[in-house]
Formats: sequence, C-alpha cells, structure tokens
Amino acid sequence: PSPLESTDPEVWSAVQHERRRQVEGLELIASENYTSAAIQQAAGTVLTNKYAEGYPGRRYYGGCEFVDDVETLARNRVCKLFGADHANVQPHAGSQANMAVYMSVLKPGDTILAMNLAHGGHLTHGMHLNFSGQLYNVIPYGVRESDHRIDFDQVAALAREHKPKMIVAGASAYPREIDHPKFAEIARDVGALLFVDMAHYAGLVAGGVHNNPVQVADFVSSTSHKTLRGPRSGFVLCREEHAKALDKTVFPGLQGGPLMHIVAAKAVCFQEALQPSFKQYAQQIVANARTLAETLMSGGIRLASGGTDNHLMLCDMTAIGLSGKIGEEALDRAGITVNKNMIPFDQRKPLDPSGVRIGTAALTTRGMKQDEMKKVGNWILQVLKSADDASVGERVRGEIAEFARQYPVPGISE
Ligand code: PLP
Repeated sequence: PSPLESTDPEVWSAVQHERRRQVEGLELIASENYTSAAIQQAAGTVLTNKYAEGYPGRRYYGGCEFVDDVETLARNRVCKLFGADHANVQPHAGSQANMAVYMSVLKPGDTILAMNLAHGGHLTHGMHLNFSGQLYNVIPYGVRESDHRIDFDQVAALAREHKPKMIVAGASAYPREIDHPKFAEIARDVGALLFVDMAHYAGLVAGGVHNNPVQVADFVSSTSHKTLRGPRSGFVLCREEHAKALDKTVFPGLQGGPLMHIVAAKAVCFQEALQPSFKQYAQQIVANARTLAETLMSGGIRLASGGTDNHLMLCDMTAIGLSGKIGEEALDRAGITVNKNMIPFDQRKPLDPSGVRIGTAALTTRGMKQDEMKKVGNWILQVLKSADDASVGERVRGEIAEFARQYPVPGISE
C-alpha cells in the first residue's frame, strides 16, 4: 500500500473514488480542468514544508535559496506569457488575488463599477455578503436584455454618473469575448483604474484566442486552475507603477507565507502554457464550445446570448420545462457534471435558478474534439428530455463511462 493508504485509509479511499469519478464521468463545469502529471507532482513536493515569507532575495526565513528560484521562475514565466511588467504569484486563490488588487489602490468606501453577479459577475466583484460588497460602494453594470451582451452604453453612463475609482471587468458566467479596450476607453474617460479579472478565460488569452487585457488594464488578476489548467490558486499582474503597492498588499498585508509547492505548480503551469501546443488547446476549447452549443440549440435548448465565443455556455432549462437544479441533478445521475446557474434576467432564485453553466475546457484537455462534442451534446439532450426517467440516466451513465475511459485523464493511469 502507498503511504497515504496505510496512514489514512479513509482519505485514501475518498481520493480513489474521486479519481474514478474523474475518469468515468464527463466534466463540464466551466471553472474546472485536469492538471498535468507534472503539475500534480510539483504540487505534491517537499516545497510544502518551507516557510518563505517575503519575496525572492528578501525573505524573513533562512534556507530560501531554492524556493527563491521557483518563485522567480513563476514570476518571469507569467510575465512573459501575458506580456506583463510585474507579477505577484503568491495569492492563495482567485479571491485573495482580487482582494490584493482592491486593497493596493482603494480605501473602504471607495466606489467601484463591476459586473452584476446575476448577470455573470463573480462574488468578489461586489456581492453584498462578500468582502468586496462590504468594503466598497459597488455600482453594478450588466448585460442588455435583448442580446445578453455587456451593455457598454450603461457602463459608460454609470461611469460618468458615479465616477468610480475603479472599473472591474471579467466574469464567471459570460459566454462572450470581453472587449477590454472598450472598458479601458471608458475608464480613461472618467479617470478610473481598470482592473480585469480574467480568471475564467486566462487560458484563452494565453493561447492567443481572446484579446489580452494586460495591454490595456492597470491590474489583471486570475485563477490558475480554470482554462489556464494549473493548480488551484491565483496571481496578479500589474503595471510597474503599482508593483510595490501590490507586493506590500499581498505580503504582509493579506497573507503570511506563500504556498511554495503551489507556486512551483504555477511555474510549471506557465511553462506549459508557453508551449505551442497550448495554442491548439485554447483554439480547440472554443471550437468544442461552439459545436456543443450548436448541438444543444438544435435540440431546443435556449442559450443566453444565443451562443458562445469562449469556453462556456449558459443553458436556459426553463425552455424545456426544467429548472437549473433539476437539470444539474439529472445530468449528475448520468455522470455529466455541470452547475446550476442564474441566467441574465432570471425570474428564479439563486439557489434554484433557471440555467445550467456548461464548459468545455476539461473535456478538451482529455483530447475530445468536435465529433465527441456532438455525442456529448446528444447525451445531454437525452438526459434532460427524460429528466424524470431514472432508467435513461442510468443507461447514459453506463455509455458515458465506457466512452470516457477512452480519453485519458492526465496524471491518472488506469
Ligand atoms: N474571479 C472569477 C471571475 C472567478 O470565476 C472565480 C472563481 O470562481 C474567482 C475569481 C475566485 O477564485 P477562487 O475560487 O480561487 O477564490
């Protein structure tokens, strides 16, 4: 038995079950992905033993020479990947990265203009229970009812009216490419800073498929674990003029020691994203999303904004007589993992919304292409159209387990 199995059979057993779930199911959660064996290895190294408060060359602990190398590699690579002046790779996750950006330049009570959670924004973009909503005066902007695209007339009008100190762009459930230069123009006109949270589509930016916010924004934050396909964590990029403030905010402002094993895994992630094959992966994610969207729409599912430009789509379950929760549960029983989600102008409640959010990054990592997306789309349609018939879910679950095993999950050999 492995050290984990003999020391802690309960945790080991849960991990085995999770491995099996990942191999046999279809992972369509838009914020998830499969990390490479190299990234998993880096995340499981002895670097977890090391305290390294401070920054490379300026630490509060001895013995940091090797973790200094690792953090320097991570910083240099991510700056090269996105063309940034400065990077901080220490934030533990996306929320901490966003907190660091706000606290570097804002004071409590300052006004920010950010995307409405109900229209696809993130909790950290000003939701009332989140620190961002508690600390700042948040003015939400949203999408147009007619086409579910960001309403730039509204963004500009709100910016002129409220004179925010910062405009926040980026979203968790927006299926279209975001026009960062347009946000930059509006921010410039009212003297606001532009902060882009590219967590969801960082992989598409790295792969050259979407426009790069680093060229136009003062700050760019991201998670590393979504389309970028790294370990579960975050980072911030900024212009040189904000570098000192940012670093001071992350440490000692918000965090103690960085998770050096995860910083190492981020360094590997950035190295992988610098390879030419990452461009193909990013292009394939979008091609797969288009095919899956077309398959679902031809089966009668309505998609917010009528389609997708990125890795995700928002499916309105009410168009086929279901709710998002019922849709999520029916798909789950069939081995298809998605999450229920609000759709713009949703008439239902956040815990029982109208939609489900579906993303193609994880299946793309397993090597699936357009033909496979048609199959996946047809399974989704079959399950949703017989959501109350458990036998359909069961049959599809078996078919999917057999199908999915043909597409290896990186780092899991079975
Ligand atoms: N920003 C956006 C746009 C996100 O979608 C997410 C995660 O869902 C985050 C930030 C927060 O990341 P984390 O869950 O790592 O704190």
